Amino acid sequence: MQCQWLGERVAAPDLKTVTKNVILQKTAGNWGPNATFRFPAHGGTGAIWIAVAKTLPKENTQFGSHGAVKSVDADNKLVHLTNGKTIGYSKLINTMGVDSLVEMMGDQSLISLSRGLFYSSTHIIGVGVRGQRPERIGDKCWLYFPEEDCPFYRATIFSNYSPNNQPQSSKKLPTMQLANGEKPSNSSPQEGPYWSIMLEVSESSMKPVDNANMLRDCIKGLVATEMLKPTDEIVSTYHRRFDHGYPTPSLEREGVLKQLLPKLQEKDIYSRGRFGSWRYEVGNQDHSFMLGVEAADHIVNGAAELTLNYPDFVNGRVNHERRLVDGAQFFKSKKGIRDEGKPFKPNGVANGVDSDGPASPGAKETKVAHGRKKSTGKFEEAL
Ligand SMILES: Cc1cc2nc3c(=O)[nH]c(=O)nc-3n(C[C@H](O)[C@H](O)[C@H](O)COP(=O)(O)OP(=O)(O)OC[C@H]3O[C@@H](n4cnc5c(N)ncnc54)[C@H](O)[C@@H]3O)c2cc1C
Repeated sequence: MQCQWLGERVAAPDLKTVTKNVILQKTAGNWGPNATFRFPAHGGTGAIWIAVAKTLPKENTQFGSHGAVKSVDADNKLVHLTNGKTIGYSKLINTMGVDSLVEMMGDQSLISLSRGLFYSSTHIIGVGVRGQRPERIGDKCWLYFPEEDCPFYRATIFSNYSPNNQPQSSKKLPTMQLANGEKPSNSSPQEGPYWSIMLEVSESSMKPVDNANMLRDCIKGLVATEMLKPTDEIVSTYHRRFDHGYPTPSLEREGVLKQLLPKLQEKDIYSRGRFGSWRYEVGNQDHSFMLGVEAADHIVNGAAELTLNYPDFVNGRVNHERRLVDGAQFFKSKKGIRDEGKPFKPNGVANGVDSDGPASPGAKETKVAHGRKKSTGKFEEAL
């Protein structure tokens, strides 16, 4: 890997403070960019994006695999979908992996260029546990595990994010197994309380994993790391593999992206997002959203794409200027620009923004979550 991606993405520890805290056995509070964050009270992270999608005119959206992109004809500016539909475009914003995009374009020179990009896969393992969350874990949100005694590198305590991320105590669930692998003495459904852990395991050509025994090994790892006691009752498990998990900031990456993205843009294709533009340091949800917003701003107004081109700048500051609700209210207030059921008029929007300046000053930030949680991971965030 190269080290440029670290930039403002990873908070550098202060050696003096670290040493002092080790000697005094103190926990560093309020440290790093994720010391506090918001999370939806209901529906997990997906609730944010479902709410965002609802702000779009329904007739302009299509979700689900039946309408997946089958091929992109860049010469004729046509996108062919698996349901037989064809959509024409003048500018295309793509958020699927740029490696898949060039395959779908069938462009051999871009395909061979994209082969210089690397990624790792991620396994997500969920474990639901009966009982009170132990005090040794407390209100921690996530912890990192660099040691060899478990397959996972991170454990997230999702039940700490919201009481709605776990079943109510009154819900009766049978015990599937004990954490030590033994069968429970009583397999009839019983009440909670419940708490939960989400684990992440990385996989790549450099780091193969034992897929068949992943769940078993993770549960063993939870006992080895004292996250679970051997007799803890497991009431639910989950395992899903994401092929494209993390875009690797490899030594070759910038050499590829600096050719690939402009070559696509020459064809009026803006490839943006975690794997759309492949820059890990600007590949979180907030970044990916702004990559899309700024690509649209660039197309409509010629605005600079800060997130794509200046990762250190956007990671080094809080964006106070733009809020989703401001934009939605602004557009709604512009009669004729976005009327229900009528098509969007990009030219009108561009003029509106220029002449009227920023959106209504009274508009409030969208509240998608309640409460704030402290991140007390062993190391700083690596999403
Ligand atoms: C393990 C893990 C933990 C993470 N934790 C966090 C976190 O705590 N906070 C955070 O901010 N971010 C986190 N992220 C990152 C977050 O998931 C990404 O930032 C975000 O999903 C990127 O959004 P995107 O739209 O760029 O890409 P994606 O979410 O990957 O969206 C691309 C979309 O393109 C679709 N697609 C692909 N091919 C086609 C096709 N042929 N036709 C139609 N559609 C297609 C895919 O189905 C997908 O929905 C995490 C990621 C991982 C892997």
